[in-house]
Amino acid sequence: KNEEKSKENNKPDISFDDVAGLDEIKEELQEIIDFINHSEKYLKMGATIPKGVLFHGPPGTGKTLLAKAVAGETNSTFLYSSGSEFVEKYVGVGAKRIRNLFEKAKKEAPSIIFIDEIDAIGSKRNSDSNNEKDQTLNQLLVEMDGFNKNNTIIVIGATNRLDLLDEALLRPGRFDRHMYVGNPNVKAREEILKVHTKNKPLDSSIDIKDIAKKTHGFSGAQLANIANEAAIIAVRKEKSKIDINDFNSAIERCIAGLELKNPSVL
Ligand code: ATP
Repeated sequence: KNEEKSKENNKPDISFDDVAGLDEIKEELQEIIDFINHSEKYLKMGATIPKGVLFHGPPGTGKTLLAKAVAGETNSTFLYSSGSEFVEKYVGVGAKRIRNLFEKAKKEAPSIIFIDEIDAIGSKRNSDSNNEKDQTLNQLLVEMDGFNKNNTIIVIGATNRLDLLDEALLRPGRFDRHMYVGNPNVKAREEILKVHTKNKPLDSSIDIKDIAKKTHGFSGAQLANIANEAAIIAVRKEKSKIDINDFNSAIERCIAGLELKNPSVL
């Protein structure tokens, strides 16, 4: 019964409606969604279903969210992991974890395996690189080559550093579809802000378009954070609605935070 429950928990209740902007990527992903939802149609035609998709681009732009939405749109099991989880001191441990991950994915197929920070295991192999990382990467390649037509499994990797990845990972039949997930433009920022203020009471002083204009360079994650921060500020000030001053304070806080972390970004 518990197993049944955890299976349920692995099915994200997230759809493409929760992902704002990124229209071209969503369109490309529709194809993958169709493969998963109607795999028989493709197999009958002798087509092979893609196994791996790679999202690359700066942090906080919605890569994890997109992967979850693919799982939500296909009612697939979502298996999250981060490349750093596989990096272990003892040889063979990372490889074993990869094996277990694919085992679980097969059992609960259709599945989306999401590997965040895939560069932690997938960076270029070289003669003096460590044995444990190479074994882990080799195991990932073996698993990706191994799963057969009867298992609908799509592996989605995410990285901020496409240039670091070993070519073996990018070969046809592995992560052969690359999608760049970049920071949102003004229109996308407006849409992201709309998603994240949907369930928040906004005062008439707020013009989302205007906020989108003055948040140039912000990622989706930062915009989500601003909307939440503005709500918290409004609560602290005992207001019944969020107004533009709350938003401005939230934006200032976010910029101050950025300057602290990296003085050169602004
Ligand atoms: P990282 O590279 O740091 O793992 P990421 O690209 O995977 O980041 P997410 O974890 O998907 O980014 O984004 C963090 C949060 O930011 C999301 O859960 C969501 O609330 C918000 N967000 C980011 N991009 C979008 C978007 N396009 N639409 C709506 N919300 C977004």
